[in-house]
Amino acid sequence: MKTLEDFNFENKKALIRVDFNVPLDAEFNVTDTTRIEAAKPSIIKVLEDGGSAVLMSHLGRPKGERNPDFSLEHICKTASEILGVQIKFVSDCVGEIAETAVANLQAGEVLLLENLRFHTAEVSGDSGFAEQLSKLGDIYINDAFGTAHRAHASTTVVAKFFEENKCFGHLLAQEIESIGKVMETGEKPVLAILGGAKVSSKITIIENILDKVDHLIIGGGMTYTFIKAQGGQVGNSICEDDKMDLALNILRKAEDKGVQIHLPVDVIAADDFSNDANTQVVDVDKIMNGWQGLDAGPKTLENFKEVVLKSKTILWNGPIGVFEMANFAKGTISIGNFIDEATLNGAFSLVGGGDSVAAVKQFGFEDKVSYVSTGGGAMLESLEGKTLPGIAAIVK
Ligand code: AMP
Repeated sequence: MKTLEDFNFENKKALIRVDFNVPLDAEFNVTDTTRIEAAKPSIIKVLEDGGSAVLMSHLGRPKGERNPDFSLEHICKTASEILGVQIKFVSDCVGEIAETAVANLQAGEVLLLENLRFHTAEVSGDSGFAEQLSKLGDIYINDAFGTAHRAHASTTVVAKFFEENKCFGHLLAQEIESIGKVMETGEKPVLAILGGAKVSSKITIIENILDKVDHLIIGGGMTYTFIKAQGGQVGNSICEDDKMDLALNILRKAEDKGVQIHLPVDVIAADDFSNDANTQVVDVDKIMNGWQGLDAGPKTLENFKEVVLKSKTILWNGPIGVFEMANFAKGTISIGNFIDEATLNGAFSLVGGGDSVAAVKQFGFEDKVSYVSTGGGAMLESLEGKTLPGIAAIVK
């Protein structure tokens, strides 16, 4: 796996695919700078070597239209402040105007290209468009994990025009390493905690992960399909009746593979899907009609704590309850606290995929786990065992 450290960028122009798809407010101010900060180390390495950086990204979904609301020019000021370098901007990402701007770029300078998705050829992965992009740098760096699962021109196709001169940026390399620590080289016992709403959206992950882990905690809305499939009463809890066979199959497979599955034993049941609902702690398989399980109960959390604390490698994807409502956030917060404690005791912990990062940020666990993934969809696909096209394009 080639990384930035394999190259010296002196007098070289690095074409870097970054993820500057940041949220903007109505006045086009950047409201969350995390992704820009995450891209900084790779850009700085290029500049410190004595090279220059040509940054390409998408912003939103302009769908091929040159819509000024989606111009990357809006983020120049913030990105310049974060990088400590005055960023130059060019109003297209390909063609003469972009090529001239790159030709005029001096060592130590940074150029930001206009939104890649002003061209439909970006998302369709057009080879001619990728070739035009490839003219804008000597070395291609992919540092955008959030789009690594897309075979777009700038994330995947462009790499073929760089032969040996391509590598992962720091951020993408960290993501790959972290996933590898869980899926390949993790110290045992390895634990995955899977929550979230539906079995159907996590099934491929569960099946793939059964070959990698020693323990699997299943929580959140997924619980009830498993409990009902085993003959339990789940009341009005979220449940996918058509996935019950699948759930039983997972339990059988886990047993065959020697994976211990831990399901909730008690839950906080509510008489409405509302923060103001009446609540009761009940056994997970005896939820009354008209009631629904919205969070893990106290005995469950004790059990989960024991499993988390004895694990040396921990992956967490998906909330354990309806964390958006304060009265049903305790399970998710507790899991975060257990992982914090395990991490302090030397475990490696990775959080990522879908909504998990939102939960982790909301409760301030970002600095307490070993690594928080920056890619929602890309992380989920990695956990499903898929080879991400953006990664494959660099590795081969
Ligand atoms: P996912 O995107 O699949 O990770 O699902 C995240 C969503 O699952 C969050 O919005 C949670 O509110 C929801 N969730 C977690 N536990 C439950 C539950 N017991 N009942 C309904 N929704 C849940």
